Amino acid sequence: MALHNGTGSKLTKTNGETTSQQHAASNGHGENNPFTFASEPTLEGIRRMQAEFTDERNWNQFHQPRNLLLALVGEVGEVAELFQWRGEVAEGLPDWTEPEREHLAQELSDVLIYLVELAEKCHVDLPQAVLRKMALNRLKYPASKVHGSAKKYTEYKD
Ligand SMILES: [Mg+2]
Repeated sequence: MALHNGTGSKLTKTNGETTSQQHAASNGHGENNPFTFASEPTLEGIRRMQAEFTDERNWNQFHQPRNLLLALVGEVGEVAELFQWRGEVAEGLPDWTEPEREHLAQELSDVLIYLVELAEKCHVDLPQAVLRKMALNRLKYPASKVHGSAKKYTEYKD
């Protein structure tokens, strides 16, 4: 049984330039400005939109945690395909075309949508869980100890 979230890659090539340019303009992304996200939608907003989308199609019956996990992994594979055989890619993807950037935006969105729905179906409050995990990461990797090093936390000495 195929799972759907309505943002499949078949729709990729439509309207790519307009979307990316509008985003760049509305988000204030100039060449010298650091990249930031828009403030909306929140993760709760994404959860609600996807819940409405699946309810309207009676697809909730297929969206159990394990199915959602497999769908999520599949979408991560679709993101990986876009980077496959390109070698290292510079930040901001300067050599990518607008349709390629829009395709990536759509596949990353698929990943996020399934991640949010998986968290919902597992009753994990994802924004709050991220706060807890970031606190743990700060303890695990104290900036004073690990600055500029890519070692795993088990490799650090006190
Ligand atoms: Mg996809």
